[in-house]
Parts: sequence; C-alpha cells; structure tokens
Amino acid sequence: MNIWYCSSEAVPYFKTGGLADVSASLTQAWAQLGHRVKLLLPLYRQLDRKKYPIENVKTLTLHLGLCDYTITVWRPRAKKQAVEVWFIDLPWAFDRSGLYGAPQDYPDNLQRFAVFGRALAALAQEDGGVDVLVGNDWQCGPLMAYARIECPQALRVFCIHNLAYQGLGSMYTISQLELDRYSHHLHYEFHHQVSSMKLGLTEADLLLTVSPGYAKEIQTSAYGCGLEEVLRERGPRLQGILNGIDEPLWSPQTRKLPYPYTARSLGKKRQNLHALQKKWGLGRLADDAPVFGFVGRLDSQKGVDLLVEAFSRWLERNPGQLCVLGAGHPHYVTSLAALQASFPKRVGLGLTFDAALAEQVYAASDFFVMPSRYEPCGLGQLIAYRFGALPIVRHTGGLADTVNDIKTKNASGLVFDEATPHALEAALTRALKLFKQKNRFHQLQVGVMGLHFTWETSAQAYLRLFEKYKPGIEH
Ligand code: ADP
Repeated sequence: MNIWYCSSEAVPYFKTGGLADVSASLTQAWAQLGHRVKLLLPLYRQLDRKKYPIENVKTLTLHLGLCDYTITVWRPRAKKQAVEVWFIDLPWAFDRSGLYGAPQDYPDNLQRFAVFGRALAALAQEDGGVDVLVGNDWQCGPLMAYARIECPQALRVFCIHNLAYQGLGSMYTISQLELDRYSHHLHYEFHHQVSSMKLGLTEADLLLTVSPGYAKEIQTSAYGCGLEEVLRERGPRLQGILNGIDEPLWSPQTRKLPYPYTARSLGKKRQNLHALQKKWGLGRLADDAPVFGFVGRLDSQKGVDLLVEAFSRWLERNPGQLCVLGAGHPHYVTSLAALQASFPKRVGLGLTFDAALAEQVYAASDFFVMPSRYEPCGLGQLIAYRFGALPIVRHTGGLADTVNDIKTKNASGLVFDEATPHALEAALTRALKLFKQKNRFHQLQVGVMGLHFTWETSAQAYLRLFEKYKPGIEH
C-alpha cells in the first residue's frame, strides 16, 4: 500500500508529546512490513538544519479563498530512508517561536493547519496513487474534508490522540478556507465556532484512536468533550488500537544512563538514583524506602494537582522520594516548586523538556505515577515497564488497558479509580507495602520488563483495518 501519514510532529525533528513518538514508529513499522510510506510534516522554525540538512523537492501555488499560497516542499538530504519525509514550508504559518503557541495557542491555528491540510490534499491529488491518507488530531481535521474532493481514491483515516484539543477558530474563516465548498456546516460548526477536530471526525472514512478503552470513553459525556454524540453516530467506524513503543529506543541498557542495566542487574537502579540525587541535591534514602517518578506535561489532564496534594500529605508520614520532570502550566510549576520547598531533600524537580534526563528518572524510579484524569493511551507507563518501574495509574483509557492491578491476574502495577488525592494516597500506601515485600516486588519488576508492546503488532492491526475499509468495498 502507498500510505501517506500526515502529522504535526514526529521525532527526531519536532516533539511536544507522544504523537511525535507514534508518528515516527508507526511509519517505520509499516515500511518494515513492505509498504511505501511517506511522512508529511510542517517545516517549523525548530528544525535543527545543521543536524538535519534539507533539500528542495518542489514548489506549488495554491489558491484558497481569496489568497494565493506558495508552498515549498523539502526533504532530508540524508541518504534514502525507509520512510520518505516531506516538510511542508509555509513560512507565515510555521516560522514561529512555538509549534502551536508560545505558549498560549496562536489565534490563527485553524488557518495555519487548514492551509497545511489543503496543501497536503493537493500533493496527494498530484501523486495520484495514494491508497491511504492518515491525518492525526485537530491539526489534520481540515485535511479530511479537502482530501474527500481532491483525492477521492484514498481511504481517509483520522486518528484521535487527544480529543480535548480541538483547533477552534472563527466562523469568519469559512469562506477564506472554502469550508462551505469542501464540507457541510453540520460537519464543522461547534458552538458558533469552526472545529478542526469535528471536521476530522465527520469527514474521515475511518476513525481510530490509540486504545480500545479511550475509544469507548470518548462516546460518553464524561470524556467526549462535547463531541460524544458525533462520535456515537460514527461508532461503527470508530476503533481503538493500542500504541506500541519503540523497544530498542527505550532500553535501560542505553548509554545515556550513568549505569546501564538489564533485568538481571536491577541493583543498578539504585546507582542511577544516587546519580540523580547528586544532580538534584537530594538526600540518601533507606533501602526499604521507594522512589516515585513522574515525567509528563504539567497539565490538568495529567493530574498534577492530585500528585502535589497527595504527596504533600503522604511524604509527611511515610518514607520515600519523588522525582518529577515536566514542563507546562505555570500554575503547576509554582505548586511543584512549593512541594519541593517543603521537602528539599526528598522531592527532586526538573522543569524542562529533556529526553536524557527523562530516562534517568525512569531508571531511578521504583514506581512511576500517572494520576491522569484521562489518558488516550499513555507512553509513560509502557516506558516505565521497560525500566523496571511499576506504574501507579488511574483506571482510565489506555492506562486501564495496559496496567493490571497487583490484586488481579497478570499483575503489573497499581490501579486506582477516583481522580482524587485520597485515592492516589491510598495507592501510594499500597505501593510502599508492596515495596517492602522484596521478593514479590523484584518478581514483578522482572515480569514487567519482559512485557512487549511492539509497534509491529499495532502496525498490523492498522493495516487490517485499511484493507477492510479501502474504497470500493461495500460495508
Ligand atoms: P502526552 O499526552 O504528552 O502525549 P504520553 O505519555 O503519551 O503523553 O507521552 C509523553 C512522552 O513525552 C513520553 O515519551 C515522555 O517520556 C515524554 N515527556 C513528557 N514530558 C517530558 C519532559 N519534560 N522531558 C522529557 N520527556 C518528556
């Protein structure tokens, strides 16, 4: 199959979250399974052109609304790769200090990514041989509408990685973006605004999301972000496929760690902890006291407020340390800094985005905490497994699909239900008890390090659906 995968970020070029990992790994997995795959990305200012020099592919002119847009396509100058990468150069849209905002969302995000989508539809039309056109999240919602008319032979697949971000814009943009010509107002109107996400949900042939649990949850009012009815209507065409992780990439044998280790040398986790303690000025910890880690966006989705409140009480009465690495909302930066000030030797805090440091936190942790209010799939818990850290998660979305509580069969972590600090505190207390049972804890660590969530399995599940729904087959 000839698959075009359109995304707003992908490692190693641009990353703000899990979508960047998914974009790189899934495309790679399809290419390894013998498919022709192209990854299409915006050309943001953030591209490190020294590390990744690029060369010109072509230029096209696009007429949309009353404007003419000149679009230049670039690709990496590196030797031929399994996945062909194209960067779409629209300087007015992507030559900015942030990907989506700095840090507040740019007011013209709808226009930026709609013109990106229109350009991709034109390129796919010009190619003529695209079988499957995948678009991810709100940034690729408008693409689904443009592609229906511009390249009708392609199966249009829209993937939801996070329903809460919707790419809303003013109704004044409708004629500027020709949405009235390419779509129907019922497909994009959302509370007197234009919703990029709704366009994707209504216009695509097939809707996918990143876990079966999240696929069910988003059809309910608690998780549907106001789009639950649209999703219920499209229910027969909505499926969840679990993300995988790039196993060789996420390995505690990595040279990025001060003390690389395997399931047979788990004692080195404490040596990694000592290195992190030194870096962050933390005190030493008794052998029977656990280390809790958190790596993630500082956002209400991730339950950072629950984390702060729970640990501020729990650490008063119990032994242990907490290592947090995150960037995001200033409100959470302040509350985490206050927690650290209360426990300067027991709470380590990194307020940056730093991939190498993230691995050190995973390596140093005995438990990895994800008290998410919602979690489409979550990579953190899967990475934690690889590093022999047991996840402590809220029972939601992909977390519920991938973590089994220690009281159940195939135990792999601790699961709690309510999004409250008290529920998290109770889970921390259970974790402490488990940590003191040295043999059981060690067995569980070795067990989770042997779990596999490979991209090949996910990539094949996607391909089966592409085959099933490709145009020309009646359903
Ligand atoms: P998201 O909702 O942000 O996509 P995921 O759990 O799916 O959450 O993926 C988050 C990814 O980003 C993981 O690979 C995690 O290790 C990484 N990450 C998050 N915050 C940071 C940070 N501050 N520094 C380094 N890596 C981070």
